[in-house]
Amino acid sequence: MTRDTDPNATGRRAARRTEPSRVDRRAFLGALGATAGVLGGSAIAGATGDGRSGAGVPGVDCDRPQFACGRQVTAADGMVSSVDPIASGVAANVLREGGNAVDAAVALQYVLTVTQPHASGIGGGGFMVVYDADADEVSVVDSRERAPHGATPDMFLDENGEPIPFDERIQLGKAVGVPGTVMGLETALELHGSRPRQRLIRPAIDLARNGFAVDAVFAEQIAENWEKFNDAAREAYSDASGRPLEAGDTHVNPDLADTLERIKCGGAAAFYEGPIAADLAETVRGAGGSMTVDDLAAYDVTLDEPVRAAWRDLELVGQPLPSSGPTTVAYILRVLEQLGIERYDLRSPEKYHLFAEATSLAWADRNEYMGDPEFVDAPVDGLLSDDYLAERAAQVRVDDTLADYGAEECVDPGVPPGVDGSRGVAAAEEGYGSTTHFSVVDADGNAVSYTSTIEQLMGSGMMVPGRGFMLNNELTDFDAEPGGPNQVEPWKRPLSSMSPIIAFRDGVPEFTVGSPGGWTIITSVAQTLLHRYVYDLEPLAALSEPTVFTTDCPPIMWEDGVPAGAREATERFGQVWEDDPSDDFGNVQVIEVGADELIGAADPTRDGLAVGLDRGGECGHGEHETRGHRESAANGRGRTD
Ligand code: GLU
Repeated sequence: MTRDTDPNATGRRAARRTEPSRVDRRAFLGALGATAGVLGGSAIAGATGDGRSGAGVPGVDCDRPQFACGRQVTAADGMVSSVDPIASGVAANVLREGGNAVDAAVALQYVLTVTQPHASGIGGGGFMVVYDADADEVSVVDSRERAPHGATPDMFLDENGEPIPFDERIQLGKAVGVPGTVMGLETALELHGSRPRQRLIRPAIDLARNGFAVDAVFAEQIAENWEKFNDAAREAYSDASGRPLEAGDTHVNPDLADTLERIKCGGAAAFYEGPIAADLAETVRGAGGSMTVDDLAAYDVTLDEPVRAAWRDLELVGQPLPSSGPTTVAYILRVLEQLGIERYDLRSPEKYHLFAEATSLAWADRNEYMGDPEFVDAPVDGLLSDDYLAERAAQVRVDDTLADYGAEECVDPGVPPGVDGSRGVAAAEEGYGSTTHFSVVDADGNAVSYTSTIEQLMGSGMMVPGRGFMLNNELTDFDAEPGGPNQVEPWKRPLSSMSPIIAFRDGVPEFTVGSPGGWTIITSVAQTLLHRYVYDLEPLAALSEPTVFTTDCPPIMWEDGVPAGAREATERFGQVWEDDPSDDFGNVQVIEVGADELIGAADPTRDGLAVGLDRGGECGHGEHETRGHRESAANGRGRTD
């Protein structure tokens, strides 16, 4: 990617025009010139595109009147897909002004800190997978939170040596990891960005200062987490009379605006050193944690070598350990390939059965071997080797289960190449539903797949007083009981399930995908890829198709729409299902780089939106853009038009 750090006046004017005070989410897109989720390149009016609501896409059955039911959008010159229409609009506008995919992603994450503080933010961490088209390289900016230096393996045990109940653990100061997001954004910008931070952070500052309309999900999370909030969070998320904010209310967060102003001027140092760091550490210690200003000053991201796995005629490239996500996704899909899953229909008993069995095999190995690679030597190559996966797949029967699930047996881990004995298991518990994923692809073929989190919805419930941002409780992703590869250790990163992936075909990015949802991230992402590539569903239909989730132990959790007949049939094989469907798993955001166009899809389970960019103005998808892409795709270097 090429750098351009010289702010230009045109961009500044455009940014000002797009920042009305008190922003309504979809009206905001209108102010940007978006029609049906597509931004025009040259004209505010007259933008074209064929954004279709989820209800209009074959296979998408949407019954969520409070949301727009997702969108599948096509455009030629750029695409953003995120859970928040405001954030998608801001990011698409960055692309329109000539910024690249990383610039847009940085602006987007800062906006989400303001508009969706329940799911991610500067008090958390995440994983950004970046494809740099110029360099033809994938890099990974790993901003996972770390345990403070004062953390100990037994810190989540009570005085009797028993794990502190999960519901209590999530609110402890000890659960707060040293946040990584600001360092991650600043590092990504330094490595790949072309626009100055000062410009990219401005929409977030304006939103925090001027306010925006609280949406249904944010309001629900304020209500559900009220008991967990500290005083600062309650004050920030209530009106002048102390009433919790509801959908449609205006939310302003001047403290957060000030914090972002400091980061705007001082970069990462403004967050990790000085008064913000002092307040952050004091808040954590006040709640019983050990975090010090030295921990914050010591924080840095790692630049990781991505995990790569062949699957069908694609290469899946994603975040390696400390996320178990992409490795486990690839494991599941490659076992299913060995099992010939394509022989069975989309909603057949065999498809669900084989998916659950492949997941159970993968889960047993995940728990047995995976942890922070700075502390644990996990046999990733062995786990993903053809011979080992063939050996694991050979244990699966199409009409029987791997263990006696009715007797609550679990699946055993295997022994992959590179391992001579057990590592010991103690799986962390996880909630389901926090976190956020978004993707950006620009006209030059650069791509970002970024999953970002504060762990639980609303994190620890603690807001740093006077600073306006929520603190994560990421350290609950460690095992409470010492002994396994994922035990707490000082300066260690907890094992994650986040699965930001870019799927490549012939060396060119074709599909970006990721999701929130704790453990279910892995199965949501795996099933989206399965539905897209094995069952040939359109992107929006692929991510909307009902999914199932299991671990190495029964029962199978399922979304509404998995047919009763299929569930009953697998019970005859020995599967055990939850009686009732779960709330929707995950919230998958994808972008597909098609032969002639970019296709963006946002999951209907929240109010997300994909926004595309067409530089053709009133001509829409012009011949020129289409031809240029074909030529560039043919020479294997992605989009260069
Ligand atoms: N902390 C979780 C992880 O890293 C994500 C939280 C969630 O999505 O619920 O896997």
